[in-house]
Amino acid sequence: MIGPVNVTELSASAFKQFLDSFDHVFSDCDGVIWTNNTLPGSGEFFEKIKQHGKSVHYVSNNSLRTQENYEGKFKAAGIENGFEKLTIPSTAIAEYLKSIKFSKKVYCVACPQTIKILEANGFECVEGPESVKGYEDYLKSLDGDPDVGAVVFDSDFRINLIKLSTAIIHLRRPDVIFLNGASDRYLPVKPGHLALGTGPFNDIVIEESKREPIQLGKPGKIFGEFAMKRAGFTDPSRILFIGDMIEQDVVLGKNCGFKTLLVLTSNTEEDMMASNIKPDYYAETLGSLVPLL
Ligand SMILES: [Mg+2]
Repeated sequence: MIGPVNVTELSASAFKQFLDSFDHVFSDCDGVIWTNNTLPGSGEFFEKIKQHGKSVHYVSNNSLRTQENYEGKFKAAGIENGFEKLTIPSTAIAEYLKSIKFSKKVYCVACPQTIKILEANGFECVEGPESVKGYEDYLKSLDGDPDVGAVVFDSDFRINLIKLSTAIIHLRRPDVIFLNGASDRYLPVKPGHLALGTGPFNDIVIEESKREPIQLGKPGKIFGEFAMKRAGFTDPSRILFIGDMIEQDVVLGKNCGFKTLLVLTSNTEEDMMASNIKPDYYAETLGSLVPLL
């Protein structure tokens, strides 16, 4: 098998073949379009790729940003209507619950923005407790609510032991569904620097509850299919997924049958080559592709 192809090293005719191999682009946001600030050339990349007749949508695991924050980030990158074309776990979770006509309470170990989205869609959310005083208080606080019918995990940066235990207590009931948004083990802080994310906590709950969550964030296939439905894309083989994280972006592409392009903002070329999972294509940044378009 041929290893990942550096798109910027393709001949003009091979680059044209690459361009002809997809009709649609899904792009991740953090680590691809921006880190703290816009990555140079991102806006120009999307502008030019659209001129080549490709439709572009965005798929992020980041439910933490508000709509205003996302709109500001897209605007700073020179991208029009980015938020309208964005799929994130919070909206996928709300749509999933609506699709099954869910009517019980949702126990949320999630960021405030995800809870806000669920409540705006009519779901009753419970969470916490935010803290316990110590050992005895912890043992006394362990309680399940019989009206809870779903446990939702999605980027809770205030996660603690009592929330994990409460989630596990609920998940012992087989009728309680388990939905997982972002499960990222690592988060990009700045180029070449990753910080630990909330993903390891998801793993503890999966292991202890012996339950497999429905994965409504990358790399879950159902999340990729949800994004396709939202974007109106029907043929996965004609989609190029651009991301910076192997575990989320490249694996999602493999799960869904998309072509994948890794930008080397969070991983080095050596990291990529050492991984068992490899993208079809790679490039330094989106900006490095602009002169070729
Ligand atoms: Mg990313």
